[in-house]
Amino acid sequence: MSRFNIKPGYLVVLVSLWLASVCNAGLWLGIWRLPEIVGFKGVAFMLGFFVFILGLQIAFLSLFAWGKLLKPVLIFVLIYAALGAYFMLSYGVVVDKSMLVNVLQTDLRESKELFSLQLVLVLGLMALLPILLLWRVKVQSAPFFAQLKSNLLLMLLAIVMAVAAVMLTFQSTASVMRNHKALRFMINPLNSVYALGLIVAEPFTRAKLAMQAIGQDATVGASWQSNKKPALLIVVVGETARAANFSLNGYARDTNPELALAQVANFSNVHSCGTSTAASVPCMFSHLGREAYNKRTANYESLLPVLKHAGLGVLWRDNNAGCKGVCSIEPAEYDDMSRLSVAGLCENEACFDEILLHQLDERVASALKDRKTSKANGMVIFMHQMGSHGPAYYLRSPQAYKKFMPECTSNNLQDCNQQQVINAYDNTILYTDHFLAQTIKWLNSHANQYDTAMLYVSDHGESLGENNTYLHGLPYMIAPDVQKHVPMVVWLSPQMQTRTGVSIACLQQQKELALSHDNLFHSVLGLLDVHTTVYREALDLFAPCSKK
Ligand SMILES: [Zn+2]
Repeated sequence: MSRFNIKPGYLVVLVSLWLASVCNAGLWLGIWRLPEIVGFKGVAFMLGFFVFILGLQIAFLSLFAWGKLLKPVLIFVLIYAALGAYFMLSYGVVVDKSMLVNVLQTDLRESKELFSLQLVLVLGLMALLPILLLWRVKVQSAPFFAQLKSNLLLMLLAIVMAVAAVMLTFQSTASVMRNHKALRFMINPLNSVYALGLIVAEPFTRAKLAMQAIGQDATVGASWQSNKKPALLIVVVGETARAANFSLNGYARDTNPELALAQVANFSNVHSCGTSTAASVPCMFSHLGREAYNKRTANYESLLPVLKHAGLGVLWRDNNAGCKGVCSIEPAEYDDMSRLSVAGLCENEACFDEILLHQLDERVASALKDRKTSKANGMVIFMHQMGSHGPAYYLRSPQAYKKFMPECTSNNLQDCNQQQVINAYDNTILYTDHFLAQTIKWLNSHANQYDTAMLYVSDHGESLGENNTYLHGLPYMIAPDVQKHVPMVVWLSPQMQTRTGVSIACLQQQKELALSHDNLFHSVLGLLDVHTTVYREALDLFAPCSKK
């Protein structure tokens, strides 16, 4: 087969042209739909923005314009860019740091759910086609210093070109970029290169910091002496449930038939810390709250060790993909329920959330076996749901809870109309409603042993096709409210209400209070009467209703 000889610089320019045009189809479509893009000014802006992106791509790739290095790098970049383009085109997502963390933390089962025919087509067109052409060319590098000189020159020219393009269209570029902050996360694949850079840099900043203990002074208060029974709290960490689809929050469909009868307090104005599991879960169990958590200069222990310092037992049961570093507890206190195969509860390599209640009696008994005083028999069980994890919503609800039909049964949401996607999603909420009611039922049946309570809050919300956006994980500042507005439900047994002085009736009067994940840490401590210097009463949602 004949081969073409080509200089590294030319190859960089050709591949950059391909990346800036074809692989950024999502970006160009997005810009084309903007209301500002009209007439000559609109065309001038797009042209300027194209030259800007082209300049950035060339400058970046010129770092790799060396004989044997260039082709493998270009092949990698093309595949990477095609993957990014696929997710942007089909789910309306953009690629930033937390999105990439999500992808990297995704396990194999979840990746399989993202696989589709469209993915193969996009990969084939955007990556395979240019890679086949790359196969036919031979990179002809110059001697080291000559090549270094020409690479530096190429990079300088590219940067000048990018800067000039922005300056010539500055007025419209500045206003479009200000009004549409998402655009900067859509420049493919530089968005993910940038995000990857932040992740790689992270170990040198936060992750390297030692874990600092907090709340080592934690003790349980007087209520533990005066009450015969210990307290048992179940904290349910929801997955991808959005407040808008809970009928408790006014959704037109009856998605909460069981909770509606369960004497719960529903909080209708709660916002999440992040828009993804990886961002929200560590933050919601931190004492810092969202703002301080994002600016933290050290890593701190989560709520779980603080409860242990107070002498309480903890248990984390997981039907998701792990606790994201929150449960730094003994292995004996962690149950991975997602890999079990229990008939009726598990199928398709996954389990429905009721698995979290599977053999819970025996588990609690064995966890408390070695403890002596009744005070220390107090326990907090964390249950991490699979909830409404997408895009394969239909896999999350058992047959008996498929009330809203027809539902989308494809991993690729674009194969279905929006109503089918919403139907599949609503069935997962209906099943979560049932799971929470079953959890309350379990707690009720242990009223003779414990004073019991349940607190449920979702980790983040979800987009279901509004503005052609699906799934979640958009950067917090540009994410739509549906990705951040989450359901939260509290149930207290009558004995727990007497013990704490917190009545469900009082909590129900607070239902519209603006709350967030910031409240979780302090509310759990408050409800369980755990005293420590890290507790902040102002963030304890039970404090206004408490007799203390
Ligand atoms: Zn999540």
